[in-house]
Amino acid sequence: MGREIVPRVLLVAATTGYQTRVFADAARRLRFDLVLATDRCHVLEDPWGDRAVPVRFEDPHGSRDVLAAAGPFDGIAAVADRPTLIAALTAEVLAIPHHSPAAVAACRDKYLARQRFQAAGLLVPEFFRVPADSAPREAAKRAPFPCVLKPLGLSGSRGVIRANDETEFLAAFEHIHTLLHGADVAALREEQNRYIQVESFIEGREFALEGIVTHGALQVLAIFDKPDPLDGPFFEETIYVTPSRESEEVQNLIIQTTRSAVRALGLTHGPIHAELRVNRTGAWMLEVAARPIGGLCARALRFDCEMPLEELILRHAIGEDVSNARLCDAASGVMMIPIPKAGIYQGVEGVERAASIPGVEDVVITAKEGQRILPLPAGSSYLGFLFARGDSAEQVDSTLRNAHACLRFEIATLLPVIQR
Ligand code: ADP
Repeated sequence: MGREIVPRVLLVAATTGYQTRVFADAARRLRFDLVLATDRCHVLEDPWGDRAVPVRFEDPHGSRDVLAAAGPFDGIAAVADRPTLIAALTAEVLAIPHHSPAAVAACRDKYLARQRFQAAGLLVPEFFRVPADSAPREAAKRAPFPCVLKPLGLSGSRGVIRANDETEFLAAFEHIHTLLHGADVAALREEQNRYIQVESFIEGREFALEGIVTHGALQVLAIFDKPDPLDGPFFEETIYVTPSRESEEVQNLIIQTTRSAVRALGLTHGPIHAELRVNRTGAWMLEVAARPIGGLCARALRFDCEMPLEELILRHAIGEDVSNARLCDAASGVMMIPIPKAGIYQGVEGVERAASIPGVEDVVITAKEGQRILPLPAGSSYLGFLFARGDSAEQVDSTLRNAHACLRFEIATLLPVIQR
């Protein structure tokens, strides 16, 4: 009998958090050998109790060389935005089918992405970028009000602010400037964080599309409605529900626009997560990320009964045909629980009551007692996540809202320090 061939997959991950663990569990079930590469080795010694490969995200080419030497691999996957570039660079030198580094770089830079969309004839808002250190009054003169100001390289709506007039523009600019000079963003040392982009505000309903690209062909895994209006001034994600309740015509428009955006960016192989707005003019691509939906949210998707998205991605990464994968729930959704105010998280009541509502699959509180929490636009996290399943999107939507209404969060206000 020949020896069993174990596929070897490289996972480049920014954290050793939840999604990384789901990938690890999936790999174990599949009997794949999963090699983790992360920049957290200096923080957590040997995070998996075995051999994680240490890389430095601020040095993508150096990291690529380290990872290429750790090969060969049968497939490559990435968790979160930042590692997508290193994954693509490594796949390129090892000749593993994957999104190209140029495509991934365009996804990670909101200015480059807009240029690609414009060149491909997609609907794009008016847009321009200015150095974050430039004079905001000059930029305000050019702004098409109402507009949105955003840093080029952050995610999760961090630093994305609507401004309706010059006064709001100046305040938003100042806010983003401070955010970009904060220690955590400065530590990323990314070129695109030196700029602020201004875009005309696109009114409309918002959607997310989860997909996987195979040698250039997009397979749609799910379309999520975002039923809460996102009109600013900040753009906090809350509820995602699939399937979409939009007409077939609108759903086709969402799919066709994503297809064009994927082509415009040059994304060819691997998962994608797209965000769009739809109004009377058509579908407007906000952004496409060369990775799956983030963190815990992927739990809202299960395929062919119980297969998590991460397992599907691993199978796809080694060249398995996943084109028959189908969602197994009639309807499902997630609510990212927003942070209502800045302060110190003290605790929550009502979790059991929320969890006992029929259709609620799980209530996960991620905030930790004593943790300092910050809402958007500066913050970058949630209090937790609610998951629900049901027979229809309407039902899932109201289940999530009812569950959220059960929760009472206690957040202590931070008292300003008075200097005498
Ligand atoms: P991020 O990568 O941080 O999520 P996005 O550019 O996708 O940044 O913006 C985050 C959110 O801000 C979007 O989901 C959308 O709700 C809102 N937004 C961004 N740009 C615009 C725009 N031009 N018009 C209207 N809303 C926008």
